[in-house]
Amino acid sequence: MSEPSVEKDDRPIVWFDIDNTLYSASTKISQAMGQRIHAYFLTLGLDDDAASELHHRYYTQYGLALRGLTRHHQIDPIDFDRKCDGSLPLEDMIFPSESLRQLFLDIDRSKFRVWALTNAYRTHAERVLKILNLTDQIDGLVFCDYAEPNFVCKPEPAFYEQALKVANVSDPALCYFIDDNKSNVLAAKQLGWGRCVHFCEHGLESVEGGKKLVINNSDVNNSEIVSVTNLEELRDPDVELVKAYEENKIVIEAQEERISILRQALSEKGLSSHYAGTSPARISQPETRNRDAAPTSNEEDEDEGIHL
Ligand SMILES: [Mg+2]
Repeated sequence: MSEPSVEKDDRPIVWFDIDNTLYSASTKISQAMGQRIHAYFLTLGLDDDAASELHHRYYTQYGLALRGLTRHHQIDPIDFDRKCDGSLPLEDMIFPSESLRQLFLDIDRSKFRVWALTNAYRTHAERVLKILNLTDQIDGLVFCDYAEPNFVCKPEPAFYEQALKVANVSDPALCYFIDDNKSNVLAAKQLGWGRCVHFCEHGLESVEGGKKLVINNSDVNNSEIVSVTNLEELRDPDVELVKAYEENKIVIEAQEERISILRQALSEKGLSSHYAGTSPARISQPETRNRDAAPTSNEEDEDEGIHL
């Protein structure tokens, strides 16, 4: 999972978490997951209270209960995944959303790549994306590879670094990240990811590490993190993701201008320039990769698209 899976591409990446981000916490999938994980802990021979305590401790300590289970117990992580995420009746719990699909369709792919970054195993991640009818909207998937001994997961820095390698990103500032988990968002921000958005469905209940909680963003005391309650807010020109693209554009244009001035100065002095064959980091402008997107001019995209 740590080798680049794609060619170098200078377009910024918008990374979406999957669970409780691409669907609402109101689906109560986290509750159903929590019950299954609790049942798995019981199979270790623990009573109810001890199972709850250990489940929560591993989740808090490692970001995933499974990470603790594989470290301290002889369990098969693939078997765990099959019995927990794999046994969820997702087809009865989540459904495609036209507005969510349209949000993805409206991301200007000449400016952005769109990837998913999840702590789930590949099978669960791909299943959710398929049910939500978003498979074709995701350029790449970085998942938690349960088959790897000592696998890493969010919010461990190594997982984000692995994601950058897989997506062939050299500058974390070119990554924009949306996740419902505060710790994950804060970790990305601390690692220098460009813009980080906390998807926060205030007031809804969720289960994390086997414990019920009411979702809020009170612990996110970081003015650089934007909080949204609905993914549609990513369309809002005031959301910092929008500004991020504009800032990148300004930096790139300034670099281009400086190089252009340098080339001209060297040319006037009759000197050839080794800059002649180089160009600054450029946001590539490939044709749209969305099969469903109607061909539009860039100008139309500016008017109607999502300006992340
Ligand atoms: Mg999540």
